[in-house]
Amino acid sequence: MNEEFVDVLVIGAGPSGCVSASYLQNNNINVKIVEKTKFPRYVIGESLLPRCMDHFEEVGLLEVLKQQNYEIKRGARFLRKGEVCNFDFSKKYTKGWDWTWQVPRAHFDNVLAEETQRKGVPIDFENEVIDVVFDGSKSKITVKDINGNIKYINAKHIIDASGYGRVLPKLLDLKKPSALPKHSSIFTIAKDINRPTDNEGTLITFDVVDKEVWLWVIPFSDGTTSIGFVGPTEFINSYKGSSTEMLKEMLKLSDYFYNRFKDAPHLFEPKIIQNFSTAVKQIYGDGYILTGNSGEFLDPIFSSGVTFATETGLLSAKLVAKIIKGEDVDLEKEYVEPVQFGVDVFTSYVNEWYSGNLQKLFFHKPENPEVKEKICSILAGYVWDKTNPFITKHNRIVKSVAHLIDLEEDSLEVKEI
Ligand SMILES: Cc1cc2nc3c(=O)[nH]c(=O)nc-3n(C[C@H](O)[C@H](O)[C@H](O)COP(=O)(O)OP(=O)(O)OC[C@H]3O[C@@H](n4cnc5c(N)ncnc54)[C@H](O)[C@@H]3O)c2cc1C
Repeated sequence: MNEEFVDVLVIGAGPSGCVSASYLQNNNINVKIVEKTKFPRYVIGESLLPRCMDHFEEVGLLEVLKQQNYEIKRGARFLRKGEVCNFDFSKKYTKGWDWTWQVPRAHFDNVLAEETQRKGVPIDFENEVIDVVFDGSKSKITVKDINGNIKYINAKHIIDASGYGRVLPKLLDLKKPSALPKHSSIFTIAKDINRPTDNEGTLITFDVVDKEVWLWVIPFSDGTTSIGFVGPTEFINSYKGSSTEMLKEMLKLSDYFYNRFKDAPHLFEPKIIQNFSTAVKQIYGDGYILTGNSGEFLDPIFSSGVTFATETGLLSAKLVAKIIKGEDVDLEKEYVEPVQFGVDVFTSYVNEWYSGNLQKLFFHKPENPEVKEKICSILAGYVWDKTNPFITKHNRIVKSVAHLIDLEEDSLEVKEI
């Protein structure tokens, strides 16, 4: 029988899996990745946050990324019918990276995977995890290759970084419905034939075309640009025809970008992801831990997906390394608590975005620099800084500031009368 033994099996070679496996390899843990597809493969999620640079740096994956000439992202621009709000990561409250990249994920993930292999981590591509049987914390994983051959991997611990594959949530019945409203997305990568040649051309932008509907524009250094709409599922589904026709029609909602993208050829037929928010009942169990999208995905509005994937990928690897070495680990305290805290902060901001309160703060003039720098830290992914009141009071502060803005606007109206 084809049987292998490893200390840690990582499922999935996306950013989360590569960061996890690199950390374990650097710390002399016997680790292997099993990856269902052949790389390079496309996946959505191209706008990174500065916080993930810390993770790539810590595990030794940053230098190779720096050599790829990816488009530098120094902030984010939000538009709403002629109003503009710019965030500059160098003007954020929390210390840390003030830039990152906009990356075509097929290329980016392939660079990460190759570097992870170069470090000595074996990656079995075109090998899919199809079953797992636990005996205490040890597990026997059934893997099927592209030709249908079966092999078994015995692991002391599993890190499930399978993203939308959600391998263990499916096999162990851990899935639960997300508490967020049902949103969907339609997107493609366009040949940016009308790209302006000045700074405007490469600026990442979120164009708010309606309270709950927005368009992302994420230019890459190779002259292509990722474009996609997000909105309530019934809104996306209200468009008819092929996905190309749907996206073209939706583009008419964006006064700002319509001309730039109306004739831009698509690199592929636009894809649709329905009801993308996911949740799970638990993010660890005896012998396994879930990271990145395999556990939770909220919403793309703050581009937090990859950063959350690398944050949890790194933290889980640190804890699993300790477990393998026989050290005591309290996963509830050391994993669930910080992960849940980050999820809760982002959830508040996602909810306040769609309630309209956060948009009120973003587009209010004159800007309040003190409020802005604190929100900027969150947009940069530094959501564990408990000196930032916009983090510690995340569940009420946006509402309160939006309320003050309402009062101010009301009193202005009264004065004008
Ligand atoms: C509409 C939309 C827009 C988004 N935009 C952004 C953005 O701008 N910025 C951002 O940071 N995030 C964004 N995201 C989120 C982003 O896509 C994910 O958070 C990120 O890719 C998660 O990384 P990961 O490493 O957890 O998983 P992935 O990158 O999905 O990698 C998981 C890997 O596991 C493999 N796998 C799956 N099943 C199996 C199996 N059975 N056996 C073996 N391998 C398996 C897959 O093939 C895959 O390669 C967006 C998401 C959506 C829905």
